[in-house]
Amino acid sequence: MNAVQAGPKFVVTEASGVWLWDDQGDRYLDGTASLWYCNVGHGRREIADAIHSQLLRLEAYTVYGDFANRPALELSERLADRAPVDDPRVMLTCGGGESIETAAKLARKYWASRGHPERVHLISRTGGYHGLHGIGTGVIGMERFRSGYGPMVEATSVVAHDSVAELEAEIHRIGPENVAAFFAEPVIGAGGVYAPPDGYFERVAELCRRHGILFISDSVICGFGRLGNWFGIERFGVRPDMIVFAKGVSSGYLPLGGVVVSGEVAAPFWDQPGNTLLHGTTYAGHPTCCAAALANMDILERENLLEVSLYVERDLDRALRGLESHPAVAEVRSGTGVMGAVQLTTEAEEAGISAPAVFREARRRGVILRAIPGAVVMSPPLIITTEQIEHLVATLRSSLDAVSERAG
Ligand code: PMP
Repeated sequence: MNAVQAGPKFVVTEASGVWLWDDQGDRYLDGTASLWYCNVGHGRREIADAIHSQLLRLEAYTVYGDFANRPALELSERLADRAPVDDPRVMLTCGGGESIETAAKLARKYWASRGHPERVHLISRTGGYHGLHGIGTGVIGMERFRSGYGPMVEATSVVAHDSVAELEAEIHRIGPENVAAFFAEPVIGAGGVYAPPDGYFERVAELCRRHGILFISDSVICGFGRLGNWFGIERFGVRPDMIVFAKGVSSGYLPLGGVVVSGEVAAPFWDQPGNTLLHGTTYAGHPTCCAAALANMDILERENLLEVSLYVERDLDRALRGLESHPAVAEVRSGTGVMGAVQLTTEAEEAGISAPAVFREARRRGVILRAIPGAVVMSPPLIITTEQIEHLVATLRSSLDAVSERAG
Protein backbone atom coordinates (compact mmCIF):
# COMPACT_ATOMS: atom_id res chain seq x y z
CA MET A 1 0.00 0.00 0.00
CA ASN A 2 2.91 2.33 0.74
CA ALA A 3 4.28 1.74 -2.76
CA VAL A 4 0.90 2.51 -4.33
CA GLN A 5 0.44 5.64 -2.21
CA ALA A 6 3.86 6.94 -3.23
CA GLY A 7 2.91 7.43 -6.86
CA PRO A 8 1.15 5.99 -9.89
CA LYS A 9 0.93 2.22 -10.25
CA PHE A 10 3.37 0.42 -12.50
CA VAL A 11 1.03 -1.34 -14.88
CA VAL A 12 2.58 -4.23 -16.81
CA THR A 13 0.80 -4.83 -20.08
CA GLU A 14 2.90 -7.26 -22.12
CA ALA A 15 5.93 -9.49 -21.85
CA SER A 16 8.09 -11.53 -24.17
CA GLY A 17 11.29 -13.43 -23.36
CA VAL A 18 13.22 -11.38 -20.80
CA TRP A 19 11.36 -8.17 -21.66
CA LEU A 20 8.19 -6.55 -20.42
CA TRP A 21 6.30 -3.38 -21.30
CA ASP A 22 4.31 -0.96 -19.20
CA ASP A 23 1.17 0.94 -20.14
CA GLN A 24 3.30 3.86 -21.36
CA GLY A 25 4.85 1.56 -23.97
CA ASP A 26 8.25 1.57 -22.21
CA ARG A 27 10.32 -1.61 -22.26
CA TYR A 28 12.09 -3.17 -19.25
CA LEU A 29 14.49 -6.05 -18.73
CA ASP A 30 12.89 -8.48 -16.28
CA GLY A 31 15.81 -8.97 -13.92
CA THR A 32 13.71 -10.88 -11.41
CA ALA A 33 11.73 -13.29 -13.63
CA SER A 34 8.70 -11.66 -12.01
CA LEU A 35 8.81 -13.01 -8.45
CA TRP A 36 11.62 -15.59 -8.94
CA TYR A 37 9.47 -17.79 -11.12
CA CYS A 38 9.49 -17.15 -14.86
CA ASN A 39 12.41 -19.50 -15.56
CA VAL A 40 11.69 -20.10 -19.27
CA GLY A 41 10.89 -16.45 -19.97
CA HIS A 42 7.64 -14.77 -20.93
CA GLY A 43 5.29 -15.26 -23.86
CA ARG A 44 5.92 -18.92 -24.66
CA ARG A 45 3.29 -19.88 -27.20
CA GLU A 46 3.85 -23.56 -26.52
CA ILE A 47 2.67 -23.18 -22.93
CA ALA A 48 -0.28 -21.03 -23.99
CA ASP A 49 -1.26 -23.67 -26.56
CA ALA A 50 -1.00 -26.47 -24.00
CA ILE A 51 -3.24 -24.49 -21.65
CA HIS A 52 -5.73 -23.76 -24.41
CA SER A 53 -6.09 -27.35 -25.55
CA GLN A 54 -6.32 -28.66 -21.98
CA LEU A 55 -9.05 -26.11 -21.23
CA LEU A 56 -11.04 -27.41 -24.17
CA ARG A 57 -10.53 -31.08 -23.22
CA LEU A 58 -10.98 -30.93 -19.43
CA GLU A 59 -10.57 -27.57 -17.76
CA ALA A 60 -10.64 -28.80 -14.17
CA TYR A 61 -11.73 -31.64 -11.98
CA THR A 62 -11.08 -32.59 -8.38
CA VAL A 63 -8.44 -35.17 -7.45
CA TYR A 64 -10.01 -36.02 -4.10
CA GLY A 65 -10.37 -39.69 -3.24
CA ASP A 66 -9.56 -41.87 -6.25
CA PHE A 67 -10.25 -39.12 -8.81
CA ALA A 68 -7.34 -38.37 -11.12
CA ASN A 69 -6.65 -36.70 -14.46
CA ARG A 70 -4.02 -37.34 -17.10
CA PRO A 71 -1.95 -34.13 -16.80
CA ALA A 72 -1.74 -34.50 -12.99
CA LEU A 73 -0.67 -38.13 -13.31
CA GLU A 74 1.88 -37.40 -16.01
CA LEU A 75 3.31 -34.43 -14.14
CA SER A 76 3.56 -36.40 -10.88
CA GLU A 77 5.40 -39.16 -12.68
CA ARG A 78 7.83 -36.79 -14.36
CA LEU A 79 8.56 -35.00 -11.10
CA ALA A 80 9.01 -38.26 -9.20
CA ASP A 81 11.43 -39.49 -11.88
CA ARG A 82 13.62 -36.45 -11.40
CA ALA A 83 13.42 -35.84 -7.65
CA PRO A 84 16.35 -36.78 -5.37
CA VAL A 85 13.98 -38.44 -2.90
CA ASP A 86 13.77 -42.17 -2.07
CA ASP A 87 10.71 -43.93 -3.47
CA PRO A 88 9.09 -40.58 -4.28
CA ARG A 89 5.37 -39.72 -4.16
CA VAL A 90 3.96 -36.39 -5.28
CA MET A 91 1.21 -34.22 -3.77
CA LEU A 92 0.14 -31.30 -5.93
CA THR A 93 -1.05 -27.92 -4.64
CA CYS A 94 -1.59 -24.42 -6.00
CA GLY A 95 1.60 -22.75 -4.83
CA GLY A 96 4.54 -22.57 -2.45
CA GLY A 97 2.86 -21.53 0.78
CA GLU A 98 0.21 -24.19 0.43
CA SER A 99 2.92 -26.80 -0.12
CA ILE A 100 4.73 -25.74 3.05
CA GLU A 101 1.51 -26.30 5.02
CA THR A 102 1.20 -29.70 3.36
CA ALA A 103 4.77 -30.70 4.19
CA ALA A 104 4.53 -29.55 7.80
CA LYS A 105 1.22 -31.32 8.41
CA LEU A 106 2.53 -34.44 6.70
CA ALA A 107 5.59 -34.42 8.95
CA ARG A 108 3.55 -34.12 12.13
CA LYS A 109 0.95 -36.64 11.03
CA TYR A 110 3.67 -39.05 9.93
CA TRP A 111 5.10 -39.06 13.45
CA ALA A 112 1.67 -39.33 15.05
CA SER A 113 0.90 -42.29 12.78
CA ARG A 114 4.17 -43.91 13.80
CA GLY A 115 3.30 -43.69 17.48
CA HIS A 116 5.21 -40.49 18.25
CA PRO A 117 2.57 -37.78 18.59
CA GLU A 118 5.01 -35.73 20.70
CA ARG A 119 7.22 -35.21 17.65
CA VAL A 120 5.76 -31.89 16.52
CA HIS A 121 8.59 -29.37 16.75
CA LEU A 122 9.58 -27.63 13.51
CA ILE A 123 12.99 -26.01 13.12
CA SER A 124 13.81 -23.50 10.38
CA ARG A 125 16.57 -20.99 9.63
CA THR A 126 17.18 -17.26 9.86
CA GLY A 127 16.41 -15.61 6.54
CA GLY A 128 14.38 -18.63 5.40
CA TYR A 129 11.15 -17.71 3.63
CA HIS A 130 8.43 -20.35 3.63
CA GLY A 131 5.35 -18.53 2.42
CA LEU A 132 2.81 -16.66 4.46
CA HIS A 133 0.16 -19.21 5.31
CA GLY A 134 -0.38 -20.33 8.90
CA ILE A 135 2.50 -22.73 9.52
CA GLY A 136 4.73 -20.97 6.99
CA THR A 137 4.35 -17.68 8.85
CA GLY A 138 5.17 -19.59 12.03
CA VAL A 139 8.45 -20.97 10.70
CA ILE A 140 9.58 -18.04 8.57
CA GLY A 141 13.07 -16.86 9.51
CA MET A 142 12.27 -13.14 9.33
CA GLU A 143 10.57 -11.79 12.41
CA ARG A 144 8.95 -8.87 10.60
CA PHE A 145 6.56 -11.26 8.82
CA ARG A 146 5.31 -12.63 12.13
CA SER A 147 4.54 -9.59 14.22
CA GLY A 148 1.01 -8.25 14.58
CA TYR A 149 -0.87 -11.49 13.94
CA GLY A 150 -1.18 -12.79 17.49
CA PRO A 151 -0.14 -16.30 18.52
CA MET A 152 1.61 -18.37 15.88
CA VAL A 153 1.61 -22.13 15.43
CA GLU A 154 3.22 -23.74 18.48
CA ALA A 155 6.49 -25.66 18.72
CA THR A 156 8.75 -23.89 16.25
CA SER A 157 12.21 -22.41 16.43
CA VAL A 158 14.64 -20.66 14.14
CA VAL A 159 18.42 -21.27 14.06
CA ALA A 160 21.23 -19.41 12.28
CA HIS A 161 21.23 -20.37 8.61
CA ASP A 162 24.95 -21.05 8.45
CA SER A 163 25.54 -23.01 11.64
CA VAL A 164 25.29 -26.78 11.99
CA ALA A 165 26.40 -26.42 15.62
CA GLU A 166 23.46 -24.16 16.41
CA LEU A 167 21.03 -26.58 14.80
CA GLU A 168 22.52 -29.43 16.79
CA ALA A 169 22.31 -27.46 20.04
CA GLU A 170 18.67 -26.58 19.32
CA ILE A 171 17.81 -30.23 18.60
CA HIS A 172 19.28 -31.17 21.99
CA ARG A 173 17.54 -28.29 23.75
CA ILE A 174 14.14 -29.40 22.39
CA GLY A 175 14.99 -33.09 22.67
CA PRO A 176 15.40 -34.95 19.38
CA GLU A 177 12.42 -37.13 20.29
CA ASN A 178 10.22 -34.01 20.07
CA VAL A 179 11.44 -32.69 16.71
CA ALA A 180 9.35 -33.50 13.64
CA ALA A 181 11.18 -31.71 10.84
CA PHE A 182 13.79 -29.24 9.73
CA PHE A 183 13.00 -26.77 6.91
CA ALA A 184 15.72 -25.23 4.74
CA GLU A 185 15.99 -23.57 1.35
CA PRO A 186 18.99 -24.88 -0.67
CA VAL A 187 20.01 -21.26 -1.24
CA ILE A 188 18.05 -18.72 0.78
CA GLY A 189 16.20 -16.56 -1.74
CA ALA A 190 13.84 -13.85 -0.53
CA GLY A 191 15.82 -13.55 2.70
CA GLY A 192 18.80 -12.20 0.75
CA VAL A 193 20.47 -14.88 -1.47
CA TYR A 194 22.61 -16.80 1.01
CA ALA A 195 24.28 -19.98 -0.25
CA PRO A 196 25.17 -22.56 2.40
CA PRO A 197 28.75 -22.87 3.69
CA ASP A 198 30.76 -25.76 2.19
CA GLY A 199 29.58 -29.12 3.48
CA TYR A 200 26.63 -27.58 5.34
CA PHE A 201 23.88 -29.75 3.88
CA GLU A 202 25.85 -33.01 4.12
CA ARG A 203 26.30 -32.37 7.83
CA VAL A 204 22.71 -31.23 8.31
CA ALA A 205 21.31 -34.25 6.46
CA GLU A 206 23.46 -36.54 8.58
CA LEU A 207 22.36 -34.79 11.77
CA CYS A 208 18.69 -35.09 10.83
CA ARG A 209 19.13 -38.74 9.88
CA ARG A 210 20.91 -39.52 13.15
CA HIS A 211 18.01 -38.09 15.14
CA GLY A 212 15.23 -39.30 12.85
CA ILE A 213 14.23 -35.71 12.02
CA LEU A 214 12.59 -35.22 8.62
CA PHE A 215 14.62 -32.95 6.37
CA ILE A 216 12.37 -30.79 4.19
CA SER A 217 14.00 -28.89 1.34
CA ASP A 218 12.04 -25.76 0.39
CA SER A 219 13.03 -25.64 -3.27
CA VAL A 220 10.33 -23.17 -4.31
CA ILE A 221 12.88 -20.68 -5.67
CA CYS A 222 15.80 -23.04 -6.28
CA GLY A 223 14.06 -25.60 -8.50
CA PHE A 224 13.58 -26.03 -12.24
CA GLY A 225 16.95 -24.81 -13.37
CA ARG A 226 17.66 -21.93 -11.02
CA LEU A 227 20.45 -23.96 -9.40
CA GLY A 228 21.32 -25.94 -12.54
CA ASN A 229 19.14 -28.96 -11.76
CA TRP A 230 15.51 -29.94 -11.13
CA PHE A 231 15.11 -29.36 -7.41
CA GLY A 232 18.07 -27.24 -6.30
CA ILE A 233 19.12 -29.47 -3.44
CA GLU A 234 20.90 -31.89 -5.85
CA ARG A 235 23.65 -29.30 -5.97
CA PHE A 236 24.61 -30.24 -2.41
CA GLY A 237 24.49 -34.00 -2.90
CA VAL A 238 21.89 -34.86 -0.28
CA ARG A 239 18.48 -36.56 -0.42
CA PRO A 240 15.77 -34.90 1.65
CA ASP A 241 12.67 -36.63 3.02
CA MET A 242 10.46 -34.05 1.32
CA ILE A 243 10.94 -31.39 -1.34
CA VAL A 244 8.58 -28.44 -1.59
CA PHE A 245 8.36 -26.93 -5.08
CA ALA A 246 6.32 -24.23 -6.91
CA LYS A 247 7.25 -21.19 -9.06
CA GLY A 248 9.56 -22.60 -11.78
CA VAL A 249 7.55 -25.84 -12.09
CA SER A 250 5.15 -23.91 -14.34
CA SER A 251 7.30 -20.77 -14.75
CA GLY A 252 4.21 -19.15 -13.23
CA TYR A 253 2.10 -19.43 -16.40
CA LEU A 254 -0.52 -20.88 -14.08
CA PRO A 255 -0.26 -21.31 -10.31
CA LEU A 256 1.09 -24.67 -9.21
CA GLY A 257 3.15 -26.20 -6.44
CA GLY A 258 3.54 -29.42 -4.56
CA VAL A 259 5.56 -31.69 -2.34
CA VAL A 260 7.67 -34.68 -3.30
CA VAL A 261 7.46 -37.07 -0.37
CA SER A 262 9.59 -40.12 0.35
CA GLY A 263 7.87 -43.51 0.30
CA GLU A 264 8.65 -43.84 4.01
CA VAL A 265 6.83 -40.61 4.89
CA ALA A 266 3.88 -41.55 2.67
CA ALA A 267 3.75 -45.12 4.00
CA PRO A 268 1.45 -44.67 7.04
CA PHE A 269 -1.23 -43.33 4.71
CA TRP A 270 -1.00 -46.40 2.48
CA ASP A 271 -0.30 -49.06 5.11
CA GLN A 272 -2.66 -48.18 7.89
CA PRO A 273 -6.29 -48.64 6.92
CA GLY A 274 -8.38 -45.64 7.92
CA ASN A 275 -5.33 -43.41 8.46
CA THR A 276 -6.36 -40.73 6.00
CA LEU A 277 -4.42 -37.53 5.51
CA LEU A 278 -7.39 -35.18 5.72
CA HIS A 279 -5.61 -32.41 3.89
CA GLY A 280 -6.07 -31.04 0.39
CA THR A 281 -7.49 -28.10 -1.49
CA THR A 282 -10.11 -27.50 -4.13
CA TYR A 283 -7.74 -26.86 -7.02
CA ALA A 284 -5.01 -29.39 -6.15
CA GLY A 285 -4.02 -31.41 -9.24
CA HIS A 286 -5.73 -28.88 -11.51
CA PRO A 287 -5.33 -30.40 -14.99
CA THR A 288 -4.84 -27.10 -16.83
CA CYS A 289 -2.14 -25.93 -14.39
CA CYS A 290 -0.48 -29.34 -14.76
CA ALA A 291 -0.61 -29.06 -18.57
CA ALA A 292 1.20 -25.71 -18.28
CA ALA A 293 3.85 -27.33 -16.07
CA LEU A 294 4.34 -30.20 -18.52
CA ALA A 295 4.86 -27.79 -21.41
CA ASN A 296 7.24 -25.76 -19.24
CA MET A 297 9.26 -28.89 -18.40
CA ASP A 298 9.36 -29.76 -22.12
CA ILE A 299 10.98 -26.38 -22.80
CA LEU A 300 13.47 -26.72 -19.93
CA GLU A 301 14.52 -30.09 -21.36
CA ARG A 302 14.49 -29.29 -25.05
CA GLU A 303 16.46 -26.06 -24.60
CA ASN A 304 18.78 -27.73 -22.11
CA LEU A 305 18.12 -24.88 -19.68
CA LEU A 306 19.29 -26.79 -16.62
CA GLU A 307 22.78 -26.84 -18.06
CA VAL A 308 22.57 -23.44 -19.75
CA SER A 309 21.72 -21.93 -16.37
CA LEU A 310 25.17 -22.87 -15.07
CA TYR A 311 26.71 -20.59 -17.72
CA VAL A 312 24.22 -17.87 -16.90
CA GLU A 313 25.11 -18.24 -13.22
CA ARG A 314 28.80 -17.79 -14.05
CA ASP A 315 28.18 -14.73 -16.25
CA LEU A 316 25.96 -13.10 -13.65
CA ASP A 317 28.47 -13.78 -10.90
CA ARG A 318 31.33 -12.40 -12.98
CA ALA A 319 29.42 -9.22 -13.83
CA LEU A 320 28.18 -8.64 -10.28
CA ARG A 321 31.68 -9.05 -8.80
CA GLY A 322 32.54 -5.81 -10.61
CA LEU A 323 30.24 -4.01 -8.16
CA GLU A 324 32.16 -5.13 -5.08
CA SER A 325 34.39 -2.08 -5.28
CA HIS A 326 31.46 0.36 -5.47
CA PRO A 327 31.56 2.64 -2.41
CA ALA A 328 27.88 2.00 -1.56
CA VAL A 329 28.27 -1.80 -1.76
CA ALA A 330 29.10 -3.88 1.32
CA GLU A 331 28.92 -7.31 -0.27
CA VAL A 332 27.93 -9.15 -3.43
CA ARG A 333 26.34 -12.58 -2.99
CA SER A 334 26.18 -14.64 -6.16
CA GLY A 335 27.74 -17.64 -7.86
CA THR A 336 25.38 -20.35 -6.64
CA GLY A 337 22.41 -20.31 -8.96
CA VAL A 338 20.98 -17.73 -11.31
CA MET A 339 20.43 -15.27 -8.50
CA GLY A 340 22.34 -12.50 -6.83
CA ALA A 341 22.22 -9.90 -4.07
CA VAL A 342 24.02 -6.60 -3.77
CA GLN A 343 24.16 -5.62 -0.12
CA LEU A 344 24.46 -1.92 0.62
CA THR A 345 26.70 -0.56 3.36
CA THR A 346 25.00 0.74 6.50
CA GLU A 347 26.59 4.15 5.89
CA ALA A 348 25.16 4.25 2.37
CA GLU A 349 21.72 3.40 3.67
CA GLU A 350 21.95 6.03 6.38
CA ALA A 351 22.89 8.55 3.68
CA GLY A 352 19.73 7.68 1.71
CA ILE A 353 21.25 5.22 -0.75
CA SER A 354 18.55 2.70 0.07
CA ALA A 355 17.58 -0.49 -1.73
CA PRO A 356 14.14 0.91 -2.69
CA ALA A 357 15.81 4.04 -4.11
CA VAL A 358 18.18 1.91 -6.21
CA PHE A 359 15.30 -0.31 -7.31
CA ARG A 360 13.26 2.73 -8.42
CA GLU A 361 16.21 4.27 -10.24
CA ALA A 362 16.99 1.02 -12.07
CA ARG A 363 13.37 0.66 -13.10
CA ARG A 364 13.37 4.23 -14.39
CA ARG A 365 16.39 3.16 -16.45
CA GLY A 366 14.60 0.09 -17.81
CA VAL A 367 15.69 -2.77 -15.56
CA ILE A 368 13.47 -4.54 -13.01
CA LEU A 369 15.27 -5.57 -9.83
CA ARG A 370 13.93 -6.25 -6.36
CA ALA A 371 14.54 -4.35 -3.13
CA ILE A 372 14.67 -6.22 0.17
CA PRO A 373 15.82 -4.67 3.44
CA GLY A 374 19.44 -3.60 2.89
CA ALA A 375 19.94 -5.21 -0.50
CA VAL A 376 18.94 -5.31 -4.12
CA VAL A 377 18.34 -8.82 -5.43
CA MET A 378 17.89 -10.36 -8.88
CA SER A 379 16.91 -13.69 -10.42
CA PRO A 380 16.47 -13.26 -14.19
CA PRO A 381 14.87 -15.82 -16.51
CA LEU A 382 17.32 -18.62 -17.37
CA ILE A 383 17.24 -17.58 -21.03
CA ILE A 384 18.98 -14.26 -20.37
CA THR A 385 21.99 -13.68 -22.63
CA THR A 386 25.48 -12.53 -21.64
CA GLU A 387 24.82 -9.11 -23.21
CA GLN A 388 21.56 -8.76 -21.32
CA ILE A 389 23.32 -9.65 -18.05
CA GLU A 390 25.90 -6.97 -18.81
CA HIS A 391 23.10 -4.49 -19.48
CA LEU A 392 21.39 -5.46 -16.20
CA VAL A 393 24.55 -5.02 -14.12
CA ALA A 394 25.62 -1.82 -15.94
CA THR A 395 22.18 -0.36 -15.19
CA LEU A 396 22.46 -1.40 -11.56
CA ARG A 397 25.84 0.35 -11.41
CA SER A 398 24.59 3.55 -13.02
CA SER A 399 21.58 3.50 -10.69
CA LEU A 400 23.84 3.14 -7.65
CA ASP A 401 25.92 6.04 -8.99
CA ALA A 402 22.88 8.23 -9.62
CA VAL A 403 21.32 7.56 -6.22
CA SER A 404 24.72 8.11 -4.53
CA GLU A 405 25.16 11.39 -6.36
CA ARG A 406 21.73 12.61 -5.31
CA ALA A 407 22.46 11.59 -1.71
CA GLY A 408 25.57 13.74 -1.98
N1 PMP B 1 9.03 -20.90 -0.11
C1 PMP B 1 9.92 -20.11 -0.72
C2 PMP B 1 11.37 -20.46 -0.62
C3 PMP B 1 9.50 -18.99 -1.44
O1 PMP B 1 10.39 -18.19 -2.03
C4 PMP B 1 8.12 -18.72 -1.53
C5 PMP B 1 7.58 -17.54 -2.33
N2 PMP B 1 8.44 -16.52 -2.60
C6 PMP B 1 7.23 -19.57 -0.87
C7 PMP B 1 7.72 -20.65 -0.18
C8 PMP B 1 5.76 -19.32 -0.90
O2 PMP B 1 5.22 -19.51 -2.15
P1 PMP B 1 3.84 -18.82 -2.57
O3 PMP B 1 4.10 -17.35 -2.62
O4 PMP B 1 3.54 -19.45 -3.89
O5 PMP B 1 2.84 -19.19 -1.54
